[in-house]
Amino acid sequence: MRKASVEPVRLGWLVERRLNLWVWCESCSHHKVVAAAPLYKKYGDAPLSAVKHKFRCAPCGGREIFLRPDWHGAGWTRGVVSKHDKLPE
Ligand SMILES: [Zn+2]
Repeated sequence: MRKASVEPVRLGWLVERRLNLWVWCESCSHHKVVAAAPLYKKYGDAPLSAVKHKFRCAPCGGREIFLRPDWHGAGWTRGVVSKHDKLPE
């Protein structure tokens, strides 16, 4: 069994880094990018695991939603960023 070494990402964390939220529907693979700031205003500093329950897929109505930071849209091309990495300035 692998250890859970990744801390849950929170909305405030995304807003601080000007990252958007990448939303994926597990049922039909529909996906889009949404801004994190309005969600932060609405839900506060909630972890993504809690926020994902607020989403529903528009095309298929599915609620199996997967969220992650939109690294590529923000120009973070390394793909994998650990919590120990320094932030790009
Ligand atoms: Zn869907």
